[in-house]
Amino acid sequence: MMSIENQKPSPTIEDYLGVIYTLDRDGERVIGARLAESLDVSPPTVTATLKRMCRDGWIEINDDKEVSLTSQGRVMATSLIRRHMLTEWMLSRVLKLPLAELHREAHQIEHTLSKEVEARLQSEMADPRLCPHGNPLPGFEGEVSQWIPLSSINAGSGVVVKRIHENIEDDYERLSFLEKEGLIPGARILVEEVLTFNETIRIKVNKKDVVLGLRLADRVFVAQDPENNQVQS
Ligand SMILES: [Zn+2]
Ligand SMILES: [Zn+2]
Repeated sequence: MMSIENQKPSPTIEDYLGVIYTLDRDGERVIGARLAESLDVSPPTVTATLKRMCRDGWIEINDDKEVSLTSQGRVMATSLIRRHMLTEWMLSRVLKLPLAELHREAHQIEHTLSKEVEARLQSEMADPRLCPHGNPLPGFEGEVSQWIPLSSINAGSGVVVKRIHENIEDDYERLSFLEKEGLIPGARILVEEVLTFNETIRIKVNKKDVVLGLRLADRVFVAQDPENNQVQS
């Protein structure tokens, strides 16, 4: 029988490990219902898979049904996320795929990368700290900790888009909307109007007005723009 250390988890298990890592990183409670939602599978399927993962030593489940990674699970989760993000960079830089397609294409490839190819990508892509969407590679969470959701910015502020959060990376419709409007990492924008009662925010980007729902704006992280910090009319 193979020892646990030599087990290579299936793509499904790797996906679970990645999602558990990310929820935990964001300080969210990791429970079956949340995983079912994130992974878009039924709660009974999640329960059965978590049971197998427990048996195989990837996770632990406490009396409150909270899931946490074992040290072996954490090593595998960070490896998966690194492979995913490096693959996104390869697809972005080499194949010039649009931002909206990077995540789902990388998702098909990431599970099969060998250690050698991963190491090669790491150096070819110049040791990135963030994925093309601005999400941190494991170990670089500090890079993004100062960025705040666009939804919390006051009217009149100039900001720079830094990050589109992982949990909408697989939402093709939202991502292509953001991309079409130029709301991608590096874009300078001016917040023109926040209508809380209407749950919308109006911004100027590339000299054009764009209205976003606050829920979407909550997933776009920005930093103050030192060169564009005045109220403009
Ligand atoms: Zn991704
Ligand atoms: Zn990404």
